[in-house]
Amino acid sequence: MTKRVHNFNPGPAALPLPVLEQAQQEFLDFEGSGISILEASHRGGLYEQIHNEAIANLRTLLGCGEDYAILFMGGGATTQFALVPMNLLPKGSFAEYINTGHWSLRALAEARKLSDVREIWSSAPTHYDRVPSPEEFHVSPLAAYLHYTSNNTIEGTQFSYVPDSGGVPLVCDMSSDILSHRLDIARFALIYAGAQKNLGPAGVTLVIIRKDLLERSPKDLPSTFSYARMAQENSLLNTPPVFAIYLVALVTRYYLKQGGLAALEAQNQEKARLIYKTIDQSEGFYRGCAHPISRSQMNVTFRLGTEELEKRFLSESEEAGLVGLKGHRSVGGIRASLYNAVTLSSVRHLVQFMRDFQNRYG
Ligand code: PMP
Repeated sequence: MTKRVHNFNPGPAALPLPVLEQAQQEFLDFEGSGISILEASHRGGLYEQIHNEAIANLRTLLGCGEDYAILFMGGGATTQFALVPMNLLPKGSFAEYINTGHWSLRALAEARKLSDVREIWSSAPTHYDRVPSPEEFHVSPLAAYLHYTSNNTIEGTQFSYVPDSGGVPLVCDMSSDILSHRLDIARFALIYAGAQKNLGPAGVTLVIIRKDLLERSPKDLPSTFSYARMAQENSLLNTPPVFAIYLVALVTRYYLKQGGLAALEAQNQEKARLIYKTIDQSEGFYRGCAHPISRSQMNVTFRLGTEELEKRFLSESEEAGLVGLKGHRSVGGIRASLYNAVTLSSVRHLVQFMRDFQNRYG
Protein backbone atom coordinates (compact mmCIF):
# COMPACT_ATOMS: atom_id res chain seq x y z
CA MET A 1 0.00 0.00 0.00
CA THR A 2 1.24 3.50 -0.85
CA LYS A 3 1.63 5.63 2.27
CA ARG A 4 -0.03 9.05 1.99
CA VAL A 5 0.11 11.69 4.73
CA HIS A 6 -1.94 14.84 5.40
CA ASN A 7 -0.15 17.38 3.23
CA PHE A 8 -0.25 21.07 4.27
CA ASN A 9 2.69 22.16 2.11
CA PRO A 10 2.63 25.79 0.91
CA GLY A 11 3.52 25.03 -2.71
CA PRO A 12 4.36 22.84 -4.43
CA ALA A 13 1.40 21.46 -2.57
CA ALA A 14 -1.13 18.67 -2.38
CA LEU A 15 -2.70 17.58 -5.66
CA PRO A 16 -6.04 15.77 -5.81
CA LEU A 17 -5.37 12.06 -5.26
CA PRO A 18 -7.71 10.94 -8.09
CA VAL A 19 -5.67 13.15 -10.47
CA LEU A 20 -2.37 11.62 -9.37
CA GLU A 21 -3.86 8.17 -9.78
CA GLN A 22 -5.14 8.94 -13.25
CA ALA A 23 -1.77 10.35 -14.29
CA GLN A 24 -0.11 7.23 -12.94
CA GLN A 25 -2.53 4.97 -14.72
CA GLU A 26 -2.10 6.59 -18.15
CA PHE A 27 1.58 7.42 -17.74
CA LEU A 28 2.92 4.75 -20.09
CA ASP A 29 0.07 4.65 -22.57
CA PHE A 30 -1.88 7.85 -23.00
CA GLU A 31 -5.38 7.13 -24.29
CA GLY A 32 -4.34 4.04 -26.24
CA SER A 33 -1.61 5.88 -28.17
CA GLY A 34 1.13 3.55 -26.91
CA ILE A 35 3.23 6.51 -25.75
CA SER A 36 3.33 8.68 -22.66
CA ILE A 37 2.05 12.25 -22.93
CA LEU A 38 5.65 13.16 -22.03
CA GLU A 39 6.78 11.58 -25.28
CA ALA A 40 4.26 13.29 -27.56
CA SER A 41 5.15 16.18 -29.85
CA HIS A 42 3.74 19.47 -28.69
CA ARG A 43 2.66 20.06 -32.32
CA GLY A 44 0.75 16.78 -32.51
CA GLY A 45 -2.96 16.16 -32.02
CA LEU A 46 -2.50 14.12 -28.86
CA TYR A 47 -0.90 16.96 -26.94
CA GLU A 48 -2.90 19.69 -28.66
CA GLN A 49 -6.14 18.23 -27.36
CA ILE A 50 -4.85 18.31 -23.76
CA HIS A 51 -3.45 21.84 -24.15
CA ASN A 52 -6.77 23.15 -25.43
CA GLU A 53 -8.74 21.24 -22.82
CA ALA A 54 -6.73 22.88 -20.04
CA ILE A 55 -7.60 26.29 -21.51
CA ALA A 56 -11.27 25.37 -22.05
CA ASN A 57 -11.62 24.02 -18.50
CA LEU A 58 -10.14 27.22 -17.08
CA ARG A 59 -12.55 29.27 -19.19
CA THR A 60 -15.51 27.27 -17.90
CA LEU A 61 -14.41 27.35 -14.26
CA LEU A 62 -13.75 31.10 -14.32
CA GLY A 63 -16.62 32.06 -16.61
CA CYS A 64 -14.00 33.61 -18.85
CA GLY A 65 -15.06 34.60 -22.38
CA GLU A 66 -13.12 35.00 -25.61
CA ASP A 67 -12.36 38.63 -24.72
CA TYR A 68 -9.55 37.19 -22.57
CA ALA A 69 -6.51 35.23 -23.70
CA ILE A 70 -5.38 32.35 -21.50
CA LEU A 71 -1.64 31.80 -21.66
CA PHE A 72 0.78 29.22 -20.29
CA MET A 73 4.18 30.72 -19.64
CA GLY A 74 7.51 29.80 -18.04
CA GLY A 75 9.55 31.25 -15.21
CA GLY A 76 7.00 31.13 -12.41
CA ALA A 77 5.05 34.01 -10.95
CA THR A 78 8.40 35.66 -10.24
CA THR A 79 8.99 36.16 -13.96
CA GLN A 80 5.57 37.81 -14.23
CA PHE A 81 6.76 40.40 -11.70
CA ALA A 82 8.95 41.67 -14.56
CA LEU A 83 6.82 40.75 -17.57
CA VAL A 84 3.81 42.70 -16.34
CA PRO A 85 5.60 46.08 -16.44
CA MET A 86 7.55 45.10 -19.58
CA ASN A 87 4.27 44.52 -21.40
CA LEU A 88 1.81 46.87 -19.75
CA LEU A 89 3.78 49.91 -18.68
CA PRO A 90 4.55 52.30 -21.53
CA LYS A 91 7.64 54.51 -21.20
CA GLY A 92 6.85 57.76 -19.42
CA SER A 93 3.92 56.23 -17.55
CA PHE A 94 3.71 54.77 -14.04
CA ALA A 95 1.96 51.92 -12.24
CA GLU A 96 0.60 51.63 -8.71
CA TYR A 97 1.10 48.76 -6.28
CA ILE A 98 -0.57 47.70 -3.04
CA ASN A 99 2.06 46.13 -0.81
CA THR A 100 0.59 43.47 1.47
CA GLY A 101 3.47 41.07 1.95
CA HIS A 102 6.67 39.41 0.86
CA TRP A 103 5.41 38.59 -2.64
CA SER A 104 3.84 41.98 -3.37
CA LEU A 105 7.08 43.57 -2.26
CA ARG A 106 9.01 41.30 -4.62
CA ALA A 107 6.61 42.21 -7.45
CA LEU A 108 7.13 45.89 -6.70
CA ALA A 109 10.91 45.59 -6.47
CA GLU A 110 11.18 43.77 -9.81
CA ALA A 111 8.93 46.32 -11.54
CA ARG A 112 10.94 49.16 -10.02
CA LYS A 113 14.08 47.90 -11.79
CA LEU A 114 12.34 48.59 -15.10
CA SER A 115 9.98 51.50 -14.64
CA ASP A 116 8.28 54.06 -12.49
CA VAL A 117 6.17 52.21 -9.92
CA ARG A 118 4.52 53.67 -6.86
CA GLU A 119 3.47 52.00 -3.67
CA ILE A 120 0.07 53.40 -2.70
CA TRP A 121 -0.53 51.38 0.44
CA SER A 122 1.56 49.09 2.64
CA SER A 123 1.05 46.98 5.72
CA ALA A 124 4.83 46.61 6.20
CA PRO A 125 4.74 48.84 9.35
CA THR A 126 2.47 46.27 11.06
CA HIS A 127 4.44 43.25 9.75
CA TYR A 128 1.95 42.61 6.98
CA ASP A 129 -0.78 41.54 9.37
CA ARG A 130 -3.60 42.73 7.12
CA VAL A 131 -4.75 43.99 3.74
CA PRO A 132 -6.34 47.42 3.32
CA SER A 133 -10.03 48.12 3.57
CA PRO A 134 -11.51 49.55 0.34
CA GLU A 135 -11.40 53.12 1.69
CA GLU A 136 -7.73 53.06 2.61
CA PHE A 137 -6.17 53.49 -0.84
CA HIS A 138 -6.76 55.71 -3.81
CA VAL A 139 -5.79 54.84 -7.34
CA SER A 140 -4.61 57.56 -9.69
CA PRO A 141 -6.70 57.61 -12.87
CA LEU A 142 -3.42 58.19 -14.74
CA ALA A 143 -1.80 54.93 -13.59
CA ALA A 144 -1.07 52.37 -16.32
CA TYR A 145 -2.35 49.64 -13.99
CA LEU A 146 -2.94 48.77 -10.35
CA HIS A 147 -1.19 45.64 -9.03
CA TYR A 148 -2.13 43.66 -5.93
CA THR A 149 -1.64 40.19 -4.45
CA SER A 150 -4.99 38.60 -3.65
CA ASN A 151 -3.61 36.12 -1.14
CA ASN A 152 -0.42 36.60 0.84
CA THR A 153 0.92 33.07 1.08
CA ILE A 154 3.55 33.72 3.72
CA GLU A 155 1.69 36.08 6.02
CA GLY A 156 -1.71 34.36 5.77
CA THR A 157 -3.81 37.35 4.71
CA GLN A 158 -6.24 37.64 1.83
CA PHE A 159 -8.42 40.22 0.13
CA SER A 160 -12.08 39.33 0.67
CA TYR A 161 -13.04 41.78 -2.10
CA VAL A 162 -11.76 42.86 -5.49
CA PRO A 163 -10.19 46.33 -5.22
CA ASP A 164 -11.98 49.08 -7.09
CA SER A 165 -9.38 50.50 -9.46
CA GLY A 166 -11.77 53.08 -10.89
CA GLY A 167 -11.30 51.99 -14.48
CA VAL A 168 -7.51 51.62 -14.25
CA PRO A 169 -6.56 48.10 -15.47
CA LEU A 170 -6.41 45.78 -12.48
CA VAL A 171 -3.52 43.27 -12.34
CA CYS A 172 -3.53 40.52 -9.75
CA ASP A 173 -0.99 37.97 -8.56
CA MET A 174 -3.44 35.18 -7.76
CA SER A 175 -0.79 32.49 -7.31
CA SER A 176 -2.08 31.19 -4.01
CA ASP A 177 -5.85 31.53 -4.24
CA ILE A 178 -6.81 31.15 -7.88
CA LEU A 179 -9.73 28.73 -8.36
CA SER A 180 -10.37 28.65 -4.62
CA HIS A 181 -13.55 30.73 -4.76
CA ARG A 182 -15.96 32.29 -7.23
CA LEU A 183 -14.58 35.25 -9.14
CA ASP A 184 -15.94 38.05 -11.30
CA ILE A 185 -13.34 37.83 -14.05
CA ALA A 186 -14.65 41.00 -15.72
CA ARG A 187 -13.09 43.06 -12.92
CA PHE A 188 -9.57 42.08 -14.01
CA ALA A 189 -7.28 43.19 -16.79
CA LEU A 190 -4.66 40.56 -16.03
CA ILE A 191 -4.35 37.67 -13.59
CA TYR A 192 -1.24 35.55 -13.19
CA ALA A 193 -0.55 32.53 -11.04
CA GLY A 194 2.20 29.97 -10.62
CA ALA A 195 0.50 26.59 -10.97
CA GLN A 196 1.96 24.85 -7.95
CA LYS A 197 -0.80 25.57 -5.44
CA ASN A 198 -4.29 25.23 -6.86
CA LEU A 199 -3.67 24.47 -10.53
CA GLY A 200 -1.17 21.66 -10.82
CA PRO A 201 2.57 21.13 -10.47
CA ALA A 202 5.36 23.71 -10.61
CA GLY A 203 6.69 24.50 -14.08
CA VAL A 204 3.91 26.44 -15.71
CA THR A 205 2.46 29.88 -15.00
CA LEU A 206 -1.06 30.84 -15.94
CA VAL A 207 -1.66 34.30 -17.38
CA ILE A 208 -5.17 35.52 -18.16
CA ILE A 209 -5.17 38.81 -20.02
CA ARG A 210 -7.95 40.93 -21.46
CA LYS A 211 -7.29 40.98 -25.18
CA ASP A 212 -7.39 44.75 -25.64
CA LEU A 213 -4.29 44.97 -23.41
CA LEU A 214 -2.28 42.85 -25.83
CA GLU A 215 -1.83 46.01 -27.88
CA ARG A 216 0.41 47.36 -25.14
CA SER A 217 3.12 44.69 -25.59
CA PRO A 218 6.04 46.53 -27.22
CA LYS A 219 6.94 45.12 -30.64
CA ASP A 220 10.62 44.87 -29.72
CA LEU A 221 10.08 42.60 -26.70
CA PRO A 222 11.72 39.17 -26.94
CA SER A 223 8.99 36.85 -28.19
CA THR A 224 8.61 34.61 -25.14
CA PHE A 225 8.34 37.72 -22.94
CA SER A 226 5.52 39.18 -25.00
CA TYR A 227 1.92 38.48 -24.02
CA ALA A 228 0.84 39.50 -27.53
CA ARG A 229 3.16 36.98 -29.21
CA MET A 230 2.26 34.22 -26.75
CA ALA A 231 -1.44 34.88 -27.35
CA GLN A 232 -0.96 34.84 -31.14
CA GLU A 233 0.66 31.42 -30.88
CA ASN A 234 -1.76 29.92 -28.28
CA SER A 235 1.28 29.57 -25.94
CA LEU A 236 2.90 27.23 -28.49
CA LEU A 237 5.53 29.70 -29.60
CA ASN A 238 8.13 27.34 -28.20
CA THR A 239 7.89 23.93 -26.51
CA PRO A 240 5.58 24.42 -23.54
CA PRO A 241 5.94 22.49 -20.26
CA VAL A 242 3.73 19.70 -21.60
CA PHE A 243 3.58 17.54 -18.50
CA ALA A 244 2.66 20.45 -16.22
CA ILE A 245 -0.07 21.60 -18.63
CA TYR A 246 -1.36 18.02 -18.92
CA LEU A 247 -1.75 17.95 -15.13
CA VAL A 248 -3.49 21.34 -15.18
CA ALA A 249 -5.97 19.79 -17.64
CA LEU A 250 -6.58 16.86 -15.29
CA VAL A 251 -6.84 19.06 -12.18
CA THR A 252 -9.31 21.46 -13.81
CA ARG A 253 -11.32 18.54 -15.23
CA TYR A 254 -11.52 17.18 -11.68
CA TYR A 255 -12.63 20.56 -10.28
CA LEU A 256 -15.40 20.73 -12.86
CA LYS A 257 -16.59 17.29 -11.81
CA GLN A 258 -16.57 18.45 -8.19
CA GLY A 259 -19.03 21.23 -9.02
CA GLY A 260 -16.72 24.09 -10.01
CA LEU A 261 -15.75 27.14 -8.01
CA ALA A 262 -18.92 27.37 -5.91
CA ALA A 263 -18.32 23.87 -4.55
CA LEU A 264 -14.60 24.52 -4.00
CA GLU A 265 -15.39 27.80 -2.24
CA ALA A 266 -17.85 26.13 0.16
CA GLN A 267 -15.33 23.44 1.03
CA ASN A 268 -12.48 25.92 1.46
CA GLN A 269 -14.58 28.12 3.73
CA GLU A 270 -15.42 25.17 5.93
CA LYS A 271 -11.79 24.03 6.16
CA ALA A 272 -10.55 27.48 7.16
CA ARG A 273 -13.43 27.97 9.58
CA LEU A 274 -12.54 24.79 11.46
CA ILE A 275 -8.94 25.87 12.03
CA TYR A 276 -9.66 29.50 12.91
CA LYS A 277 -12.29 28.28 15.36
CA THR A 278 -9.72 26.05 17.01
CA ILE A 279 -7.32 29.00 17.27
CA ASP A 280 -9.98 31.34 18.64
CA GLN A 281 -11.22 28.84 21.20
CA SER A 282 -7.73 28.03 22.46
CA GLU A 283 -7.68 30.97 24.92
CA GLY A 284 -4.39 32.27 23.60
CA PHE A 285 -2.57 28.94 23.35
CA TYR A 286 -2.65 29.45 19.57
CA ARG A 287 -2.39 33.03 18.32
CA GLY A 288 -3.43 33.84 14.75
CA CYS A 289 -0.90 36.08 12.93
CA ALA A 290 -3.37 37.82 10.62
CA HIS A 291 -5.79 40.52 11.63
CA PRO A 292 -9.16 38.67 11.81
CA ILE A 293 -10.76 40.70 8.99
CA SER A 294 -7.88 39.83 6.66
CA ARG A 295 -7.59 36.14 7.45
CA SER A 296 -6.68 33.91 4.53
CA GLN A 297 -8.76 30.88 3.63
CA MET A 298 -5.74 29.33 1.97
CA ASN A 299 -2.86 29.82 4.41
CA VAL A 300 -3.64 29.86 8.11
CA THR A 301 -0.70 31.28 10.06
CA PHE A 302 -0.39 31.09 13.82
CA ARG A 303 2.09 31.08 16.69
CA LEU A 304 2.46 29.27 19.97
CA GLY A 305 3.79 30.69 23.23
CA THR A 306 7.48 29.96 22.58
CA GLU A 307 9.65 28.86 19.67
CA GLU A 308 10.47 25.77 21.69
CA LEU A 309 6.80 24.83 21.80
CA GLU A 310 6.47 25.52 18.06
CA LYS A 311 9.35 23.14 17.35
CA ARG A 312 7.64 20.50 19.43
CA PHE A 313 4.34 21.13 17.60
CA LEU A 314 6.08 20.63 14.27
CA SER A 315 7.91 17.47 15.22
CA GLU A 316 4.91 15.87 16.90
CA SER A 317 2.54 16.81 14.07
CA GLU A 318 4.94 15.27 11.57
CA GLU A 319 5.03 12.07 13.63
CA ALA A 320 1.23 12.11 13.50
CA GLY A 321 1.31 12.22 9.69
CA LEU A 322 0.63 15.95 9.27
CA VAL A 323 3.34 17.47 7.07
CA GLY A 324 4.31 20.89 5.69
CA LEU A 325 3.19 22.96 8.69
CA LYS A 326 6.37 24.95 9.22
CA GLY A 327 5.91 28.70 8.70
CA HIS A 328 7.98 30.43 6.00
CA ARG A 329 11.60 30.86 7.08
CA SER A 330 11.25 34.65 6.99
CA VAL A 331 8.47 34.73 9.61
CA GLY A 332 8.62 31.46 11.57
CA GLY A 333 5.62 30.02 13.41
CA ILE A 334 3.12 27.58 11.94
CA ARG A 335 1.35 27.74 8.59
CA ALA A 336 -1.34 25.35 7.42
CA SER A 337 -1.90 25.68 3.69
CA LEU A 338 -5.40 24.57 2.78
CA TYR A 339 -5.40 24.59 -1.01
CA ASN A 340 -8.22 22.95 -2.98
CA ALA A 341 -6.70 19.47 -2.86
CA VAL A 342 -6.39 19.45 0.94
CA THR A 343 -9.38 17.44 2.09
CA LEU A 344 -11.80 18.24 4.89
CA SER A 345 -10.69 14.99 6.46
CA SER A 346 -7.04 16.19 6.55
CA VAL A 347 -8.21 19.41 8.19
CA ARG A 348 -10.20 17.48 10.79
CA HIS A 349 -7.09 15.47 11.61
CA LEU A 350 -5.14 18.70 12.06
CA VAL A 351 -7.81 20.22 14.29
CA GLN A 352 -7.86 17.09 16.45
CA PHE A 353 -4.09 17.19 16.69
CA MET A 354 -4.18 20.88 17.71
CA ARG A 355 -6.68 20.14 20.48
CA ASP A 356 -4.71 17.13 21.74
CA PHE A 357 -1.49 19.12 21.66
CA GLN A 358 -3.07 21.90 23.70
CA ASN A 359 -4.38 19.37 26.21
CA ARG A 360 -0.89 18.02 26.64
CA TYR A 361 1.03 21.30 26.79
CA GLY A 362 -1.55 24.00 27.57
N1 PMP B 1 3.37 35.17 -5.60
C1 PMP B 1 2.81 34.47 -4.61
C2 PMP B 1 1.56 34.99 -3.98
C3 PMP B 1 3.41 33.28 -4.17
O1 PMP B 1 2.86 32.59 -3.17
C4 PMP B 1 4.59 32.83 -4.79
C5 PMP B 1 5.27 31.54 -4.42
N2 PMP B 1 4.96 30.95 -3.28
C6 PMP B 1 5.14 33.60 -5.82
C7 PMP B 1 4.49 34.76 -6.21
C8 PMP B 1 6.39 33.19 -6.52
O2 PMP B 1 6.07 32.15 -7.38
P1 PMP B 1 7.12 31.33 -8.23
O3 PMP B 1 7.92 30.52 -7.27
O4 PMP B 1 6.24 30.53 -9.12
O5 PMP B 1 7.95 32.30 -8.99
